[in-house]
Amino acid sequence: MTDITNHKVIIIGSGPAGLTAALYTARASLNPVVFEGIQPGGQLTITTEVENFPGFPEGVMGPALMDLIRQQAQKFGAKSIYQEVTEVDFSKRPFKVVSDGAEYFAETVIVSTGASAKLLGIPSEAEYMGYGVSACATCDGSFFKNQNVVVVGGGDTAIEEASFLTKFASKVSIVHRRNELRASKVMQQRAFSNPKIEFVWDSAVDEVLGKNEGGKKSLTGVRLKNLKTGVLTDFACDGLFLGIGHQPNTKLFEGKLDMDPVGYLITKPHSTATNIPGIFAAGDVADPTYRQAVSAAGTGCMAAIDAERFLAHGEVGH
Ligand SMILES: Cc1cc2nc3c(=O)[nH]c(=O)nc-3n(C[C@H](O)[C@H](O)[C@H](O)COP(=O)(O)OP(=O)(O)OC[C@H]3O[C@@H](n4cnc5c(N)ncnc54)[C@H](O)[C@@H]3O)c2cc1C
Repeated sequence: MTDITNHKVIIIGSGPAGLTAALYTARASLNPVVFEGIQPGGQLTITTEVENFPGFPEGVMGPALMDLIRQQAQKFGAKSIYQEVTEVDFSKRPFKVVSDGAEYFAETVIVSTGASAKLLGIPSEAEYMGYGVSACATCDGSFFKNQNVVVVGGGDTAIEEASFLTKFASKVSIVHRRNELRASKVMQQRAFSNPKIEFVWDSAVDEVLGKNEGGKKSLTGVRLKNLKTGVLTDFACDGLFLGIGHQPNTKLFEGKLDMDPVGYLITKPHSTATNIPGIFAAGDVADPTYRQAVSAAGTGCMAAIDAERFLAHGEVGH
């Protein structure tokens, strides 16, 4: 099937970036179509309380926040399609987007497919995600005041997360597969000189341990496996942070949009413009640095304004 409409804006992804872009382009009467993908609402739908999104002094549940942003966008005419985009053709305008076998065309496309935190991939990790397991210290660190937490990883991400967590936690144990860190020397020094940080070398998390009391889930520890000896040890802790990196969701755009070696889309300075005029990128997919809901929403707003100006003038102001 082909949708013969030449849409003004197609948005791929429905996290804070995509839905904010939808809100702004809808208010600009551009009738945006949002492909929501396999995770409608994006990463915040797998968390519990969000305490750092402005406007919610009491905090807000992640899924509820995303429902509110979607409602706000739809109020102004944004349309959601609950399907994944499987193919794009950005070689000529109108751009082509393929989903569920159907072709859609648009004058501009905003890519906001996010980034996924790399996970350990064990069932107990998924069970306690948001209930003690986290992939974001900036988001969840303050829930662990005076508690013991474990950080998994040995690169810059893990050390950054661990250092940040020492502001709250009484002890931060970094569990690493090897007996030395991959992180830069300066980061390593910072970690080694921090009295709240300790290291568990040559080890990996084999299982996340927790309890469920009256429907209230919480972490009690992790089962560690020493990779040299194979010995399993239960290690008590209140939180587990995954510091093993992120993978931007950009496979679809390989060879089409410029990306850095990890796969993050590259945008022009002070703009959301990619290397193809008319294609814009917003949110975590183009952000190896901040990866926050509010920064994703901010760049979603920027992408919407860039797309609107592109449609009006054929280019964006940069
Ligand atoms: C557990 C957890 C807790 C967090 N807590 C906080 C917090 O408290 N505060 C905070 O500021 N940040 C938090 N974050 C980070 C925050 O969620 C992200 O920074 C933010 O969601 C990024 O928004 P985004 O719109 O760029 O992408 P995402 O939220 O990653 O959304 C990506 C979207 O793209 C869609 N998509 C992907 N591929 C396709 C495709 N091929 N076709 C169609 N759609 C596609 C997905 O379905 C999804 O809708 C948390 C993250 C996690 C994982």
